[in-house]
Amino acid sequence: MVHREQAKQQLARLQLASLGEQERSERVAFWFFCGFNEADPQLADLPAALRQQVCRGVEPPDPQASSLDPLVLVSLVEDLYGVTNRYLEQALEQRGAEVEEVTGEPETMYPCPCCGYLSLSSSCSYEICPVCFWEDCGVRDLNTLSGPNQLTLAAARQNVLEFGACDLVSVERVDRRARERYLAPQSDAG
Ligand SMILES: [Zn+2]
Repeated sequence: MVHREQAKQQLARLQLASLGEQERSERVAFWFFCGFNEADPQLADLPAALRQQVCRGVEPPDPQASSLDPLVLVSLVEDLYGVTNRYLEQALEQRGAEVEEVTGEPETMYPCPCCGYLSLSSSCSYEICPVCFWEDCGVRDLNTLSGPNQLTLAAARQNVLEFGACDLVSVERVDRRARERYLAPQSDAG
């Protein structure tokens, strides 16, 4: 058995090894655009020198430099927040790792009001659902127009049923594999 925190680290290292140059560049750049300071908890797992570099906010000339690996690794691990243990097992297996049973309680996740997947790390805080791309502005009434989404929940839910995203613009942006990462909607029958 392996604890999910270790499994996430292992999976992130495998992902890092096969990451495309562009995605790597984007993940490195993220750290230098956000204006972090030393006290930010996201920086806690970084080596001190890298932490200082991030806080200075000066983007390094070569994002492919291996000294920047910890930045990419932390962002990859962050993306695994709230995924199911089953997903971790499957993703490790797909990458040829020897798979043990992943244990440990997944982080608390909240259901997306549109697609129902447990895909949000917080509720009503304008987080965008990776499964259907609904932005959780706090609207729960089916027929109230949601400002950020520019449509009602009722319409968005219908869109998810029809083409798998909350609106047509988002169809190309949703990651089809996101559904495998999170707990599926609870069935009403149960
Ligand atoms: Zn959703």
